[in-house]
Amino acid sequence: MATNRTFTMIKPDAVEDGHIGAILEKITSSGFKIAALKLTQMTVADAEEFYAVHSERPFFGELVEFMSRGPIVAAVLEKENAVADFRTLIGATNPSEAADGTIRKLFAKSVGENAVHGSDSDENAAIEAAFHFAGREMF
Ligand code: UDP
Repeated sequence: MATNRTFTMIKPDAVEDGHIGAILEKITSSGFKIAALKLTQMTVADAEEFYAVHSERPFFGELVEFMSRGPIVAAVLEKENAVADFRTLIGATNPSEAADGTIRKLFAKSVGENAVHGSDSDENAAIEAAFHFAGREMF
């Protein structure tokens, strides 16, 4: 995947609260183009694999349960400097530390239920996009 792409999920909390439209509007009005998009749900095994890097962390069980409890929106986003710019747009992991106007400041409930995911590197963006999308689903 080109380095101008990142991967995101609108997490179960934000989907449950009806924020899909508002979050997609914030993303596209911030200059990101949608290259792939779907409503899907991760199984427990999917969430364990997706977050394997956190498997030794104390919050891992809670994170897996949360991320598999309901539908998510998975998307691949395109923009120059996509990974870094999207991390800026979503804000800090803990919404109480997120800057005003960021997606997590606007929509997140807690450090765990924090509304959105954003890849932390070009390499992980490519891995995470391939985890959720077949080649023919990415444009
Ligand atoms: N998380 C959590 N408790 C913590 C830290 C993180 O439940 O103390 C969850 C949260 O949903 C976060 C995800 O684990 O988004 C991945 O953590 P990471 O440190 O990679 O944060 P992110 O890159 O999502 O900002």
